[in-house]
Amino acid sequence: MTKWVYSFTEGKKEMKQVLGGKGANLAEMTSLGIPVPSGFIVTTEACAEFYKLGKRYPEGLLTQVDEKLAELEKKMGKKLGDPQDPLLVSVRSGAAISMPGMMDTVLNLGLNDNSVQGLAKKSNEKFAYDAYRRFINMFGDVVMGVDHKYFEQVLDKVKETKGVELDTELDAQDWKKVCASYKEVVKKHAGKLFPNDPKEQLRMGIDAVFGSWNSKRAIAYRRIHNITGLNGTAVNVQTMVFGNLGETSGTGVCFTRNPSTGENKFYGEYLMNAQGEDVVAGIRTPKHIEELQKQMPEIYDELVKIYKKLEKHYKEMQDMEFTIQDRKLYLLQTRTGKRTAAAALRIAVEMEEEGLIDKRTAIMKIDPNQLDQLLHKRLDPIAKEKAEVLAKGLPASPGAAVGKIVFTADRAGELAQEGEKVILVRTETSPEDIEGMHAAQGILTSRGGMTSHAAVVARGMGKPCVAGCSDAVIDEDKKLLKVGSQKLNELDSITLDGSTGEVIKGAVPVVDPELSGNFAKLMGWADEYRKLKIKTNADTPHDAQVAKGFGAEGIGLCRTEHMFFEGDRIKAVREMILAETLQGRKKALAKLQPMQKEDFKGLFEVMAGLPVIIRLLDPPLHEFLPKEDEDITQAASDLGVDEQKIRDTISNLHEFNPMLGFRGCRLGIKYPEITEMQAHAILDAAKESKNAIPWIEVPLVGNVKEYYIVRDIVEKVAKEKGMKRGKDYWMGSMIEVPRAALTAEEIAGECDFMSFGTNDLTQMTCGFSRDDSGKFLKPYVEQGIYDRDPFQSIDQTGVGKLMEICVKAARKVNPKIELGICGEHGGEPESVKFCHRIGLNDVSCSPYRVPIARLAAAQAVLEEK
Ligand code: PEP
Ligand code: MG
Repeated sequence: MTKWVYSFTEGKKEMKQVLGGKGANLAEMTSLGIPVPSGFIVTTEACAEFYKLGKRYPEGLLTQVDEKLAELEKKMGKKLGDPQDPLLVSVRSGAAISMPGMMDTVLNLGLNDNSVQGLAKKSNEKFAYDAYRRFINMFGDVVMGVDHKYFEQVLDKVKETKGVELDTELDAQDWKKVCASYKEVVKKHAGKLFPNDPKEQLRMGIDAVFGSWNSKRAIAYRRIHNITGLNGTAVNVQTMVFGNLGETSGTGVCFTRNPSTGENKFYGEYLMNAQGEDVVAGIRTPKHIEELQKQMPEIYDELVKIYKKLEKHYKEMQDMEFTIQDRKLYLLQTRTGKRTAAAALRIAVEMEEEGLIDKRTAIMKIDPNQLDQLLHKRLDPIAKEKAEVLAKGLPASPGAAVGKIVFTADRAGELAQEGEKVILVRTETSPEDIEGMHAAQGILTSRGGMTSHAAVVARGMGKPCVAGCSDAVIDEDKKLLKVGSQKLNELDSITLDGSTGEVIKGAVPVVDPELSGNFAKLMGWADEYRKLKIKTNADTPHDAQVAKGFGAEGIGLCRTEHMFFEGDRIKAVREMILAETLQGRKKALAKLQPMQKEDFKGLFEVMAGLPVIIRLLDPPLHEFLPKEDEDITQAASDLGVDEQKIRDTISNLHEFNPMLGFRGCRLGIKYPEITEMQAHAILDAAKESKNAIPWIEVPLVGNVKEYYIVRDIVEKVAKEKGMKRGKDYWMGSMIEVPRAALTAEEIAGECDFMSFGTNDLTQMTCGFSRDDSGKFLKPYVEQGIYDRDPFQSIDQTGVGKLMEICVKAARKVNPKIELGICGEHGGEPESVKFCHRIGLNDVSCSPYRVPIARLAAAQAVLEEK
């Protein structure tokens, strides 16, 4: 019989896949002798089976739950539903990867009209009925689907009748009334009676947690964070402990190091006389953990001992939840703490320096994508001096964000789709806001602490966030943000500094980050391990310089056409396109040649001694012609031609499928003079530069004969200049057409290098237009047809297979060939790792992704071991 249920004493931290992260760590803490309220875990495998069986429990599950419950009752000396002294439990979700706030939780389970009296006897009536009404509300909402607002309405009415404002002003009799009315609310809105039988409650609670695995928000969270391949959620059933039993009870969240800065100092927040949800929900502003030292020194000391033990044991920064019940400390959770990129770096480097971990572990600790946060911009310090700071909240997630104010997550999504940069401004955020938070540049909330939903989620996403900005009055209905006498409306510009917590009026300019210290140290370690070379896609000396600063070891793709749009060049390009004779084209190309030469010299100078791959002209020619009427008129006048001639050319060049049309090497085959001009410009530039290493690349090759034609043109030009291939310049092909990958054996022999253009290769292999896929790919990813957008992360099964075939064939005929990638995937960690595994020599990506690729490349090596 499959084991579906484990007690905390049976599990360990390595069992996350089966017990979920929360359950595995509760078990681990139990075995370390840390005070954890007892309980048991229904496995993630049971959840997977539940879905497989069409939402029915697998055989044996309920029996095993009963057995574990009986064990728990025995251990605690209490029984679920006992009218004298009832056992109460929490029922919580917990997948192998943490998804904070995305799934369901029920607290105080086991209360009913009888057992509440037992609880009252053991504590007091007011507390017991308050707990009971919380349970009916939570159970009614989460398990039975009754909207929370109906419970709120009842509560408001009771308070109004009594003439009080705060919940704390209600007494036991009031709570009794509330409980009775809440049950009516359930009856009316759920169409069913509130279940009195605690075992029935438990079964329904487990159902609800399993069900929440596939809630809309949980699915969205998994999609945004690329969480795939999990069984489902586990269900943790745990003895309740109460932080709201009076002033000797409390609850808090703490971290073994500072999650914002990484400083090695105990960090956290707590509230006395409160339940865990009160700290996270951000309704009351919590106290700093250091105050606990004064308030309850013994508990503080015990907590310090525990956190030190846990960090040493896990060799990882921990995020812990604790509850103090009447002067006794309990740990309710420990997990790897989420942290900003700056904190992640500092923690990894300092833990290595402290001897807690080695370099390899330090490298593996950092999510390459997270580095993006560090590479991002901060407010221009000079502009900031003059900026009007409206208010200051908590520096919940660092970085600068500038955008237009929106007050709802939906609006954030809408405007972001239209290309607007928006800041999501909310009183507090909830898991429903997750998509809007993702779409926004930054998040501002008026309530909540450093561990509030907004803060935790923003840090995870790497978005700047200012939380708990209590000076800001946010009216989401009226779309108004008031700070003192200032009023800001929807679409007004605002700037957030997530590193200081400042909220600034208007749009403040931002500047590049400085990348030294821990960053440089970790990058140095990554370089010791990685085998892939990291190059950059850059078309200008400026971009090349930025990339070199980030550690680029050459240019893996210069798209020459990007230079064609600047200044006078576009005129010459258009003249060339409009020319009807070879002579006319040559005349126009002669104007372009010196400009191209200067461009290339600029790149060679920056990359002196490093290879620079220059790709011959690639895009369809119509891209260089004007589209709007007024631009056509202007171009006609600039070139001294008839408007009609331009219009005729546009119509001649029109294609139904331009991405599969007259582009790539096809241009240079039909118009060899273009290739000739580019060859002259590249080779002259190389001659006139010190240490230039030009690699000339032919785009969109599908047949080796295409490559030969273009290669021969370049070789002829080189010969005229007395330059030799393999000494003064190198030749290679892009691999973008599936046919090229399949016939690599023919092509590779004649190439010094080949580079996968995975943008086009994905387009042509999957048959998805790279320009239109945005219109239909989202549901593909949502429905799991593709795990990820194949234009972002290499489709390893399909496109990847072609790449592997190509690499094997190429190496067979030409073992010395240099193989690389220059599509967008070259800066995406999973794709970089894939490139390492199939044996490429280098990856090339945009300048800001170079450090990400360096780290991912090192991790690829370490993962192999
Ligand atoms: C590619 O297709 O992956 C590539 C790098 O070329 P481009 O994006 O310029 O078509
Ligand atoms: Mg391409």
